[in-house]
Amino acid sequence: MTDHDQQRLWHRVASKRPLAVGMLGALIVVLIVWSIAPAEPTPVPPALPQPAHLEPAPIPQTPPETETRQPSEPQLIVEPPEPAPVDPSDERQEVLQTCELIAGKLGSVSLEDCAESKLRLSGARSRKGTPILMAEYPPLTERQPLGRVLLFGGIHGDELSSVSIVYGWLETLDRFHSGLFHWRIAPLVNPDGLLRSKPQRMNDHGVDLNRNFPSPNWKVEASDYWIRRTSRNPRRYPGEAPLSEPESRWLHEQIETFQPAAIVAVHAPLHVLDYDGPPDPPERLGPLHLKQMGTYPGSLGRFAGVHLDLPVVTLELPSAGIMPTPADQRRMWVDLVAWLRQNVPKQNAVQVVQVKPAATVAATSAER
Ligand SMILES: [Zn+2]
Repeated sequence: MTDHDQQRLWHRVASKRPLAVGMLGALIVVLIVWSIAPAEPTPVPPALPQPAHLEPAPIPQTPPETETRQPSEPQLIVEPPEPAPVDPSDERQEVLQTCELIAGKLGSVSLEDCAESKLRLSGARSRKGTPILMAEYPPLTERQPLGRVLLFGGIHGDELSSVSIVYGWLETLDRFHSGLFHWRIAPLVNPDGLLRSKPQRMNDHGVDLNRNFPSPNWKVEASDYWIRRTSRNPRRYPGEAPLSEPESRWLHEQIETFQPAAIVAVHAPLHVLDYDGPPDPPERLGPLHLKQMGTYPGSLGRFAGVHLDLPVVTLELPSAGIMPTPADQRRMWVDLVAWLRQNVPKQNAVQVVQVKPAATVAATSAER
């Protein structure tokens, strides 16, 4: 009913009964007020999700228990826009392209397995810009994990089996992840080394990434070791500075942000189980028997195991080019999980591990 209709009705009825007129008048006033009043606000729909919720699920950089939120963070203020979110289809495309490269290089890794895995972009890239892929097996709601475990392979690009076996363990976790541990896994830390026509130990910058970690007194010890003990062997070149390489920087960042209770590194072909850091090492993992080989300046064992007191389990597979039998792969995994289960809780794993930033490491290096 328009205002005009209402007024015509008023004039027609007004000439008849005063009482009716009074009542009708009141009704019409109500109607007029109703018709010109701003519409009653419709029920408030749920708040539009913040831009962050429209983004693809981010790859968690920190586990939930270490995430912090500023208590005074205002709820209704429109924040400046987040950095442009990665289009999920772009990310998927890049994961698939990387999978294609890796599957093209490794007989034991199929494109299908890689594509169906939980591998995502880690955000880090190699020297040549190849994405470093990472999979996360997070805590499950019904279970508090015993601790966080960082597992990686392929830090040396010519140790092909160290990459393939981690792919196999991803499949194991896809089927059996129970929430016992919170895993962060990178099967291939040095993609440039692997993906060359002839795979090489070093990254594309000629650096042995496992000599590039900021162990104490790196500047003196790493170059001294390289020059005097290896006679400048290019396969052991530690780089110009600790963490000079994006691949080692990424791994170091995982130690700082993910704060693993244990690190598992897969190498080949020394056919032993190496171990650095506390507590007591495993005696064996499947066919690999413990043989502690010491550490080198700039190695992860020296940096994380000795300097940070983190357990670093190093599997040296028997061959760089031939995979262990499926039974041996399984035994290694079962023994590893059994050892972690027994020993990670002793490390008080879910508490925050204090990690000294690289600068502090350098400054305090003379103390050790
Ligand atoms: Zn190696």
